[in-house]
Amino acid sequence: MQLEDVLKDVLVDVADHIGEGKVANYIPALAKIDPRKFGMAVVTVDGDIHVTGDAEEAFSIQSISKVFTLTLALGRVGEGLWKRVGREPSGTPFNSIVQLEQEQGIPRNPFINAGAIVVADTLLSGHQPRETLGEILSFMRYLTDDDTIIIDAEVARSEQQTGFRNAALANYMHAFSNIHNPVEKTLGVYFHQCALSMNCVQLAKAGLFLANRGLLTRGGRSVVSWERARRINALMLTCGHYDASGDFAFRVGLPGKSGVGGGILAIAPGKAAIAVWSPGLNANGNSATGTKALESLARRTGWSIFG
Ligand code: GLN
Repeated sequence: MQLEDVLKDVLVDVADHIGEGKVANYIPALAKIDPRKFGMAVVTVDGDIHVTGDAEEAFSIQSISKVFTLTLALGRVGEGLWKRVGREPSGTPFNSIVQLEQEQGIPRNPFINAGAIVVADTLLSGHQPRETLGEILSFMRYLTDDDTIIIDAEVARSEQQTGFRNAALANYMHAFSNIHNPVEKTLGVYFHQCALSMNCVQLAKAGLFLANRGLLTRGGRSVVSWERARRINALMLTCGHYDASGDFAFRVGLPGKSGVGGGILAIAPGKAAIAVWSPGLNANGNSATGTKALESLARRTGWSIFG
């Protein structure tokens, strides 16, 4: 199987769907992105890189950042993290507040907004927001061996000005003592991590350790243990697409994490990390055409964690 050819076929499969879906407009800076963008990158565990479309154009990775902050937080506080955030799919939208009251301010999982805000709070403790953001940015640059990655301050500011739902979630959890730092500081970290600007190649490189038993490259340095990589993949599969996680598992069959910027990072364990970008979102806030492209790629490669 030539991945180069597979990517060409995927592009043909989705060509009629490019531009479908609705670009996120609740974050004003994202509303102006061209919905007809489409890019995809596959980075194999051998380090081969295959691309198609706008794979080298940076976009706002938004909630895909939650995979990397979770990785950092597990490194910082270990299993203790699970006292403050659960590991169950929520079955609710990414910005939902409904379960938080019944479950005493403990978010269902680290990938819904409430959970990711708690994760950001754990990374902030003992630091200033600037230091925590420096740590997150350094981690992304380390994983990709690429110092050009930046946080887009305009996107962060844009979300800060309109992020009333996230402010509500953070304040609500603070009332249950599950946010330990001043709410504005924790939210500042969260909005800035979401504003990481990366392209598909960088994103697939950053996720490669999850396809590679926790190692940066085959036989290379360890980012996390094999067990931890497996567990992060498990959470991506069960919670990475919010209330559409079941559908994504059914259609694609790989762990994946989406963001409202239209990106998705998918992991084919032992094979490759895949990043796709198409800004139009479906009703669940996940990239419409990006999901279709991953479905096509998984079918054409036979990659699946289900056999
Ligand atoms: N920054 C976005 C928000 O908090 C992230 C959501 C997402 O990508 N699903 O609303």
